[in-house]
Amino acid sequence: MNPAPPLRAMATRPKLSTKAERFTESVIREMTRLALRHDAVNLSQGFPDFPAPAEIKRAAQDAIAADINQYAITWGAKSFRNAIAEKFQRTQGLAPDPETEITVCCGSTEAMISSMMAIINPGDEVVVFEPFYENYGPDAILSGATPRFVKLRPPDWTFDPAELAAAFGPATKAIILNTPNNPTGHVFERAELECIRDLCQRWNVFAITDEIYEHMVYDGARHISLATLDGMRDRTITINALSKTYSVTGWRVGWAIAPPDVTAAIRKVHDFLTVGAAAPLQEAGTVALHFPPSYYETLGHEYAARRDRMIGILTGAGFRCFKPRGAYYIMTDISPFGFPDDVAFAHYLVKEIGVACVPGSSFYRHPADGRAHVRFTFCKTEKTFQAAAERLAKLPPPKST
Ligand code: GLN
Repeated sequence: MNPAPPLRAMATRPKLSTKAERFTESVIREMTRLALRHDAVNLSQGFPDFPAPAEIKRAAQDAIAADINQYAITWGAKSFRNAIAEKFQRTQGLAPDPETEITVCCGSTEAMISSMMAIINPGDEVVVFEPFYENYGPDAILSGATPRFVKLRPPDWTFDPAELAAAFGPATKAIILNTPNNPTGHVFERAELECIRDLCQRWNVFAITDEIYEHMVYDGARHISLATLDGMRDRTITINALSKTYSVTGWRVGWAIAPPDVTAAIRKVHDFLTVGAAAPLQEAGTVALHFPPSYYETLGHEYAARRDRMIGILTGAGFRCFKPRGAYYIMTDISPFGFPDDVAFAHYLVKEIGVACVPGSSFYRHPADGRAHVRFTFCKTEKTFQAAAERLAKLPPPKST
């Protein structure tokens, strides 16, 4: 037997990945851990605290009992891909080919990183609207893209077309769009999408759209998939998941819809990253995707009521709220409370008041840009709202109005 190699001091250990050193842990997940530690009402990470529909839970149980417990086809069980294609046709009028244009992944998170790794080369730039869902930053680093940020500005969180145009150039490979938007609640309108479309065509650029909040739209807002605009279908990767629509964020089942050649590349990356998403949960997903239109109408109405309830609570406690037209978050302005920044405020709120939110800076490249904001989620039950209201009532009154 060979002698054991000598123990090496830390200082002589090899360096870690420079890619991994360039981003931090998720602030959203960190706030959930802080909420647990301080026994706070968790309005940070966006996951429902109410049950998933009984039918989908039963379908998952039945699939396990029926021994659908081995690998599904790497890019997704056929019945599930068929159901995804049918639903996209019902809701957006596009009929992707389930054999060549759909890849089932472990959540939209994996669909996004697999898509980026499938299209990015060193030196490629990716346009990202800011504030952005925090994953897109590390996704860019991991895939080797250089992000070019374009601001969405309050109160309506739209963009300046000239600023967007200036972000495109010969090095641009893709734009990442999240509509309905996390964290702002902005639902991109047709004119905005046409502006994006024109730039994608002019500079020969892909669009990757994260449409996971498609059914959470309020006040008559309508979700439009960018892929449905003339000329966009062959350059758009549309990402979605079961997580938000069916209240199963822990299942990790999502998908990417893309033209065949792009799908072929996404499937290869996906295969070697994760092999596949949970087989019995894909069976249950097939049942969910066949829910009748009334399911989505009810979901939308219930979320609109939750949004109004949460806005009432936050406004009553002294926050300035930006009323979202989509998704399930409320961005707020905390300047009236006179704290040095969003992180100090969020830590005070979780420790002293007992309510967890997400500091606005985690949605910006430069923390100073988000220092006046914190985000609250409202995918919660009345019991949670009641507890949050009671605790937020203890907040000292704002210093200014
Ligand atoms: N999308 C959710 C949020 O923004 C949850 C993200 C996550 O933790 N994967 O809070």
